[in-house]
Formats: sequence, C-alpha cells, structure tokens
Amino acid sequence: MKFPSLNIQILLGAFFGVAIGLYFHALGPEHQVTQSGLYAASLAGTLFIDLLKMILIPLVFCSITVGIANLRQHQQMHRVWVTTLLFFISSMAIAIVLALLAGNYFKPGANLHLTMFEHAMQKIEAKQLPLSDFFAQFLHGLFVNPFTALSQGNVLAVVMFSLILGVTLVIGGERYKNILSLLQEGLDVTMQIVGWVMRIAPLGIMALLIKLVALQDVAMLSTLAKFVAIVAGTLLLHGVVILPLILYVFTGKSPLFFWQGAREALVTAFATSSSSATLPVTLRCASQQLEVKPEIAGFVIPLGATINMDGTALYEAAAALFIANLVGIELNFSQQLIVFFTAMIAAMGAPGIPSAGMVTMVMVLQSVGLPAEAIAILLPIDRLLDTLRTTVNVEGDMVGSLVVQKLIAQRSI
Ligand code: ASP
Repeated sequence: MKFPSLNIQILLGAFFGVAIGLYFHALGPEHQVTQSGLYAASLAGTLFIDLLKMILIPLVFCSITVGIANLRQHQQMHRVWVTTLLFFISSMAIAIVLALLAGNYFKPGANLHLTMFEHAMQKIEAKQLPLSDFFAQFLHGLFVNPFTALSQGNVLAVVMFSLILGVTLVIGGERYKNILSLLQEGLDVTMQIVGWVMRIAPLGIMALLIKLVALQDVAMLSTLAKFVAIVAGTLLLHGVVILPLILYVFTGKSPLFFWQGAREALVTAFATSSSSATLPVTLRCASQQLEVKPEIAGFVIPLGATINMDGTALYEAAAALFIANLVGIELNFSQQLIVFFTAMIAAMGAPGIPSAGMVTMVMVLQSVGLPAEAIAILLPIDRLLDTLRTTVNVEGDMVGSLVVQKLIAQRSI
C-alpha cells in the first residue's frame, strides 16, 4: 500500500484532531478519557511547537542573511525592500478597510449590553499601552546585541541584525565570501532539519487541534456569535477572495496552485496560532512548492512573519468597532481613521505568537478612548479567532513573496 503524501497526512491529522476534540468536548472535562487524552495531546502538540521553535532562529538568521546577500547579483536589493514594504502596508490596509466596512454595516455589539460582561471586565487589569510608549518600545526592540537576540529567540531583533549582516556581505563582496558560503550551508542544513520536523507535523497538528476544540467555551461563543461570525466571515473574505485575487492579478497564478503549495503552512498556522512557529514551514512551502526564489522567499517570508499581519490588523479594527458598539459610542470618521492607523501599527508590532494581537489591541482601544479592560470580553473567544487570523497572516506572507518576485522580475527586464 502506498503511504499518503505529507500534505494528505496533514489534512487527515487536522480532520481527526477536530473530530477527537469534539468527542472529548462531548465527554466533558472531568471524564477520565478526556483527561488522559488531553494530557497526551498536550505533550505531542508542545513537542511539535518546540521542534519548530528550536530550528526557527538559526533558520531566520541564515535565510535572511543569505537572501539579502544573494540579491546583489541583480542589483535589486532596494527594489525588493520597497516593493515588499509597499505590499505589506497595502494588503494590511485592505484588510482593515474590510473590517471597518463590515463593522459599520453589521454593528455586532448593538444588541448586547455591557452589563453582561461586567464580571469579566472586573477581573482584568489591562496594562496601559499608550501609542507613544508602544512606538518607543518597538523601536528600542529593533536593535539588540545579536547574541542576546539569538539566544533569547527574539525574532524581530534577529531579523534586523540579519538584514544588516546581509547588506554588509553584499558590500564586502569577495572579501566575505567564506562567511556567505558558511551561512548558505547553514541554511541548507536547517532546511533539512525542517524537513524532518515536518514528518511529525500531522501528529502535532492533530494534537493541537484536539486541545483547541476540546477546551472551547461554548457558552461565551454563543453570546458573541454575531461578532465571531462577522470576524470569521471577513477573514475568510480576505483570505479566500481578496488575497487570491491580488495573487492572480499580479502573477496570473491560480488559487488552486497556491492552495496546493501553501496548505502545509496554512494548516500549521491554523493549529499553532503562531506565525513564528509556522515560519520554518512557510519558508519551505514558498521556496520548495510555490517556486519563489530562495533569495526573495528568504527575505519576504521572515520579515512578513514578524510585521505583515493582515488577519491581526483586520481583527484589531473589527474588535475596536465592536467594543465601541458595546459601550454605546459611535466612532466618527476621524476616530475610525485613528483606528485604521493604530490597528496597522499594532498588527505590525505584534509578535507572531498566540494571542499577541490581544495585547497590542489595548493600544487601539485607548487611541479612541475605549476602555482597555474590555479586552476581557474577547479573551474567551480569542484562541478560536486566533487560528483564523494567524492563517490569514501566513497566507499574506506567501502571497507577498510571489507578488514581490513577479514585480521585481518584470521591472528588471
Ligand atoms: N497569533 C498571531 C500570529 O502569530 C498574532 C495575533 O495574535 O494576532 O500571527
């Protein structure tokens, strides 16, 4: 009998994960089977994420440095930079506009009352996060001693240092060719290890989904059903219609081609809710299956995993409108413009880890005078919505790498 391909195994893992999770949910948390099942799922899921995180930092370091250094042949460094940043900003802007349109149209918080959530809000003391402090913190976190950043797994700081190192290698040319070939080999080695880690991906994904589904708080979910449906619908619109359309318009590639090449990364993002943990898989899909040149993928994907978050930006804006509805404040046009900008900054600044968007959302709420404690209302449903927004975040990075590759190729003819 032929063993199914990794792609099929991953889809099967996801399917069984949801099914077993539903079964445990039906049995209830006290049941012996649920408890031992969840213990095993927790072990396997954590092991999978740990393995991805283990390889993440060496991979990011090598892939960005080598990616930048290899752009030298084409004299394209500047263009890749500008095109990538423009793409990130535009796709996040579209995502936020979708969220604002949907929020204004459907008004998900209109029939709910704040008193329903008072208990939850009292329990949380939201840390103040003024925009100015957030910006200062973000800037301060960009440049860190590389050894500290590497050892602490600080992805953003590693990205920044690798960019600088890559540029230095380009400028040094022949003089530093040994360092470059060492890093090139480092990249090959880390990708090889990613390949091995992926063999347990079906099991890891199944375990993570079992835990996620079994532990869902259904009561809260039904109270907030309208909001959840609107966010999920808008995320799907962005992920299933807008991003594939952008891809098709710029590159002529079909959604089917994209889905086939990208699904390992999309399913991993869904199950882990972490763009950073998914990054090794995203890079693998982009460079091996979506035919993005390593020097473009090596630059766009790691940078995207840290700052390009369409799903998070969309969610932050949608949530701000929802909370405004709930507390009975009508946000006018200029306030919504503030939400637009702060949601983008908050998404860019959110690290690619589970629920990071919830933390930076405090800033969006405060920017228009909404109570920061209101994030308590969204916490119970966050884990669920995080799956979708992380998937859209990762999708945006892969679409970005394909679009940037095409635009660069066109302009250098
Ligand atoms: N979990 C998301 C990510 O890793 C960030 C967020 O919380 O929105 O991309």
